[in-house]
Amino acid sequence: MEKLIIFSAPSGSGKTTVVKHLLSVMESTLAFSVSATTRSPRPGELNGREYHFLQLEDFRQKIKDGEFLEHEEVYAGILYGTLWSEVRKIWSEGKAVVFDVDVKGGLNLKRQFGDQALAVFLRPPSVDVLMERLTKRSTEVEHQLKERIAKANYELSFESQYDTVIVNDKLEETFVNCEKLVSDFLSES
Ligand code: ADP
Ligand code: 5GP
Repeated sequence: MEKLIIFSAPSGSGKTTVVKHLLSVMESTLAFSVSATTRSPRPGELNGREYHFLQLEDFRQKIKDGEFLEHEEVYAGILYGTLWSEVRKIWSEGKAVVFDVDVKGGLNLKRQFGDQALAVFLRPPSVDVLMERLTKRSTEVEHQLKERIAKANYELSFESQYDTVIVNDKLEETFVNCEKLVSDFLSES
């Protein structure tokens, strides 16, 4: 069966960290769905690796052309979306697709794919810890940081709609829990 593994959580919960780890230890079975976004690249991010960085008009054209499985305005004026082309390419390589998407996008994918998809909610131990991690990451300017923190409580309310919740406290434990979760899901027929 063609499978999907969805990681959603408020910004700063550790999705990128966990997804990168899983991709490195399960390279032959998993591949990352590189989303499109209209935000600017952060230092160190490469077009086509972390995201396909698009101008707003190009993103809008792709919506019209039906190129997205789902798309959301995750932050004011900033669009993110999952491309069909990414998912098809990964499935054609015989791998399961891994997604790092916002809480609404994750549930949208789960609705579309049902048992083909495992929807994982990665939760920080507390909102205070989340704030601390986001602030330390230092990737957002002040108003963006505030917007992300303000949205966290809303996003945390989606937790119960996910297949499973992992609390990302000690990173090594999170890695082990996620590896087991994903291996078990992939071994189900
Ligand atoms: P997201 O992709 O959900 O926005 P990141 O993976 O970028 O989150 O993690 C946010 C920050 O927190 C990063 O600087 C990351 O190194 C750090 N981090 C992630 N998980 C943990 C953890 N369990 N303990 C401490 N710091 C963590
Ligand atoms: P960041 O700007 O920190 O990379 O991501 C911001 C948020 O957008 C995160 O919650 C991330 O999961 C989400 N995101 C990334 N790609 C997609 C996508 O294709 N679809 C949706 N719905 N959200 C996405």
